[in-house]
Amino acid sequence: MSYPNVNVLNTDTICALSTVAGVSAIAVIRVSGQGAFAIVSTLFEAKDKNFDMLNTPTHIVKYGLIKNKQELLDDVLLNIYRSPHSYTGEDSVEIFCHGSLYIQQKLLELLVEKGCRMAQPGEFTLRAFLNGKFDLSQAEAVADLIAAQSKNAHELAVKQLKGGFSKKINELRTLLLRFTSLIELELDFSEEDVEFADRTQLMALIKNIETELQQLLDSFRLGNVLKKGIPVAIIGKPNVGKSTLLNVLLNEDRAIVSHIPGTTRDAIEDTITLDGTTFRFIDTAGLRNADNEIEHIGIEKTYEKIKQAYIILYVFDVSATTAEELNNQLEEMEPHLADGNKTLILVANKSDMLVEIPHNFKNLVEKDTVFISAKRCENITLLTSRLIETINKEQLVSNEHVVSNVRHFDALQKAREIVGDISQSLQGGVSHELLAADLRRALYYLDEITGLRINNENILGEIFGRFCIGK
Ligand code: GDP
Repeated sequence: MSYPNVNVLNTDTICALSTVAGVSAIAVIRVSGQGAFAIVSTLFEAKDKNFDMLNTPTHIVKYGLIKNKQELLDDVLLNIYRSPHSYTGEDSVEIFCHGSLYIQQKLLELLVEKGCRMAQPGEFTLRAFLNGKFDLSQAEAVADLIAAQSKNAHELAVKQLKGGFSKKINELRTLLLRFTSLIELELDFSEEDVEFADRTQLMALIKNIETELQQLLDSFRLGNVLKKGIPVAIIGKPNVGKSTLLNVLLNEDRAIVSHIPGTTRDAIEDTITLDGTTFRFIDTAGLRNADNEIEHIGIEKTYEKIKQAYIILYVFDVSATTAEELNNQLEEMEPHLADGNKTLILVANKSDMLVEIPHNFKNLVEKDTVFISAKRCENITLLTSRLIETINKEQLVSNEHVVSNVRHFDALQKAREIVGDISQSLQGGVSHELLAADLRRALYYLDEITGLRINNENILGEIFGRFCIGK
């Protein structure tokens, strides 16, 4: 999207509906900018006749009437914040009006008539960022917080909003700066061929930075998983009951279900949220509609699903599979589970067809096997509890710093590449000038994350354009 010029953004007074568009008991309209008090006071008649909005202290709540000329529109409450003590850092007013569509619309029209401009998506938060209320990664956390639909996604956003991640980036920045100053000092005295910095010490310093960057990069897989949901693959031979199981899981009482169309035409991802954790079933296009599926799902596709998954539900028909067959199937799959992070749960389906568990399956009971009947909805809660246990065991969010934002990941990756080059160069005895130039580039990418050096309006438009209007 095209975003207006940042300088213009900072001088207009903007307004927007901050609650969901639609009829509601109460709606909140936000006004922010230099003219906020002057504009609102032309429409507002306070009950308290002595009230003077232009000279009000900050954090005041006022009751009164909104009138268009002498015509009454609504009785409202105002929350008044004086710069810099507001979300945006500017003079701001929140108008709590009744939530009829007519009142919301009319009030916005009146505000615009009196000199406000309708806000762009995320413009209040953009202003907060431009006015130094928080850095860019924290501003992005505000969007994540609003979008969070699960406990994990919420926790991640709160952590980032509190600034722990920014602090980590700034620590890395300080380390890089220390390194840079040592190198640049040498640069100043280069003609005298002085080596101020002990090369071993420099090497240790840059290795340390490299490791820390790598750890952050490694956390992205987890971050992505926490934000979007734990990827689960339901796999198994045709007709074992995979689609029946998926349908049952999606109908689980405790689950909040959503269907997310994927990027390709047939990739559909269903998610369920259990106990605050979202599980995302990978590519369920074939499974959801039992009629048009099965034979089309090749082995390759199954392995591809396994690759993307955190948890694999391997479904087999316990009434028609011998222990030996099952072992062979599992052996075939083994190489694809090599990645240590995956949890395999064996799902023995169609257990309603069994009189008793066959003798040679007994040992599976001790393994991670859940005996269910998808068709009769039996033991499904055992399976969902197992899903939740698997995740709780891992204590996912306790990890100190988890990267969950693609923009941050990209910037970290670039910084990591450059730092890797620097460490090579140090060994190879590259000139100080080149080292110093590389260091500045690495710093640039770290600063891009916190927004210290972002003056590119396209990037800001890209980030804030994804917010909702009114935030
Ligand atoms: P998929 O090919 O693995 O997705 O298998 P489906 O879910 O399409 O199921 C294949 C057949 O098995 C259907 O006729 C289902 O009704 C049946 N089925 C699924 N689950 C069970 C179960 O728990 N018990 C019994 N008896 N039949 C089942």
